Amino acid sequence: MNTHTEFQPAGRLNGIALSEIVQISERAAELRRQGVDVIALSTGEPDFPTPAHVVEAAHQAALAGQTRYTATAGTPNLRAAVAGQAGVGTEQVMISTGAKQVLANAFLATLNPGDEVIMAAPFWTSYADMVRLAGGVAVVLTCDAAQAFKLTPAQLEQAITPRTRWLLLNSPSNPTGAIYSEAELLALADVLSRHPHVWVISDEIYQHLSYVPFTPFAQAMPKLADRVLTVNGVSKAFSMTGWRIGWAIGPLPLIKAMTAVQGQVTSGTCSVAQAAALAAVTGPQGLLADRLVELRSRRDMMVDGLNAAGLECPVPDGAFYVFPKCPEKMPSDPEFCRYLLDKAGVAVVPGRAFGMPGHLRLSFAYGLESLQQGLVRITRAVEAL
Ligand code: PMP
Repeated sequence: MNTHTEFQPAGRLNGIALSEIVQISERAAELRRQGVDVIALSTGEPDFPTPAHVVEAAHQAALAGQTRYTATAGTPNLRAAVAGQAGVGTEQVMISTGAKQVLANAFLATLNPGDEVIMAAPFWTSYADMVRLAGGVAVVLTCDAAQAFKLTPAQLEQAITPRTRWLLLNSPSNPTGAIYSEAELLALADVLSRHPHVWVISDEIYQHLSYVPFTPFAQAMPKLADRVLTVNGVSKAFSMTGWRIGWAIGPLPLIKAMTAVQGQVTSGTCSVAQAAALAAVTGPQGLLADRLVELRSRRDMMVDGLNAAGLECPVPDGAFYVFPKCPEKMPSDPEFCRYLLDKAGVAVVPGRAFGMPGHLRLSFAYGLESLQQGLVRITRAVEAL
């Protein structure tokens, strides 16, 4: 009989902790509860409200009785709407509980123990842990500011092994905002065309938050379409992070395997949220452009303000993050972040959380007043070093 009473997590959780972003946000919230005035520039969600017509669609769906289980892969009308915009068949689209579950489904459906997933650092914090949870190995390639935080074809070529299953791309990137141009995508695709066993996940969740032209990977390289999985959703573009709707667009056998995973884990995602997402995708799109104008002016203010404060800050091409360098006087990025939070009351995330120490990530998806106050506090804190 097993007499062991102490809780032991499964081995697959070794080294996997609560996301550093969540930890910082929780610490900021705790300080606030204690009455400390904290400006949190740490979380990745738009401050704009979900559009009213989207909320109304959810309301109407609930009143009309759309409150039951949906098909595992999503409601036919939302799948068809997404498929129509992507120019693929409805069967090639699957709706999940956020882009996050799309990625988890993909890794669980495809990785055997030891299979490798190539990703460029800095990367969104969850990527490497998700791969590990699914039994895979994250192959992290450092792509620093000198290469605009982007993977080069030579780096990709060198990293591919017989065990490589996926190349995971994220454009526009969280945390750097980097966008791969069409030419850069074609150069990567050229490498992939020599390695037919390597498939591509293109996480395009920030697609509609691009300040320069954006090319979806599958569109740049139709020849590779039978091994590209595109990840997208409504969270960022339509300010719908809490509704938890994302989708996968990919080859049929992969979508079927991912649907099998989802069918055993969550089943179809929330019926009412899918109705809301349908309204977002098929409704007026003008607000995306309006919000982009607003975000661009915030971006410019942040970049200028941080550079003026002495934090070297490149201009991001997309998303709503800036990724400046940590001041040289500070021994490490986590220490600088702690100093900013405790001494200046500003929460930002250390680059270490994204696989790139020596940097910080600040979100500018906040109102102008918070951003201005945040900049004043950061400037003073850097001066005081
Ligand atoms: N991919 C990236 C790059 C992200 O930044 C995020 C959210 N932070 C996601 C996926 C997950 O999005 P969702 O909220 O739709 O699960």
